[in-house]
Amino acid sequence: GGRDPEQEVINCRMNAIKHKIIIMSGKGGVGKSSVAAGLSMALAKLNHKVKKKVAICDLDICGPSIPRLLNIQEQRVIHTPYGWQPLTSPHNSVKVMSVGSLMGNKDSAVIWRGPRKTAIIRRFLKDTFWGRLDFLLFDTPPGSSDEHLTAIQGLQEVKLDGAVIVTSPQAVALSTVCREISFCRKMGLRIIGLVENMSGFVCPCCQETTDLFSSRGAERFATERSIPFLGRIPVDVSLSQSCEDGQSIIQEFQHSPAAIALIQLAECLMK
Ligand code: ADP
Repeated sequence: GGRDPEQEVINCRMNAIKHKIIIMSGKGGVGKSSVAAGLSMALAKLNHKVKKKVAICDLDICGPSIPRLLNIQEQRVIHTPYGWQPLTSPHNSVKVMSVGSLMGNKDSAVIWRGPRKTAIIRRFLKDTFWGRLDFLLFDTPPGSSDEHLTAIQGLQEVKLDGAVIVTSPQAVALSTVCREISFCRKMGLRIIGLVENMSGFVCPCCQETTDLFSSRGAERFATERSIPFLGRIPVDVSLSQSCEDGQSIIQEFQHSPAAIALIQLAECLMK
């Protein structure tokens, strides 16, 4: 005996999904959720012709920002005989599951604590009816806590591609990346690579890039620790504005420096 029926369901659902990637960051405010959302749209755009599907599962239980970024904050998840039906974003038809889309009142999000957080994440894994997908991205809260542990343990028997770590170039952000790296290594989770967000400022008038912080800090950091460096995304008003307005940077500002960088990152993950 000893077979866990709940785990069997998770395995079955997850085995229909080709690539499963966890998006992490050492600290908050480095743009992890914006990058995760933008990346999901970029992957969906690149996969559009072959009709492969992309989804994002928001594991930030206390501060879910994915529903707003993918402009589905008015929609509610419905229960079907197949499980929880994920929402479909107007942005490149990315599928979404988030605790923010389960509740009637978004303010009740703050009461989620340890054991209930673990339980809801298990239910996301077990009960979401994703169907066949090409990519499933997991957005997570900053740091490495219960949410990460629950997801990684739940996905132990299926193949996870690994973790993408988002950082900004400041030393204070990079110092927290060390903890993420040792967490991944302890969990036996492959590190797909490091992304430097807010890397330089693109002038909206002349398009010239100015470094705000130490330039190439994250790339050097990654090289020193033998981690792949996946690329840099500049500070770009197109990104902050589209995040603020719930627009798709990929659809509305496809020629912006941040959109181009996100498409490059998506291409890098498809290789
Ligand atoms: P995190 O998930 O790491 O806490 P967010 O994704 O919420 O960070 O981003 C924090 C803020 O920074 C948001 O207002 C977002 O719009 C903005 N932001 C993130 N990345 C960029 C960027 N490359 N250019 C401009 N603004 C950005």
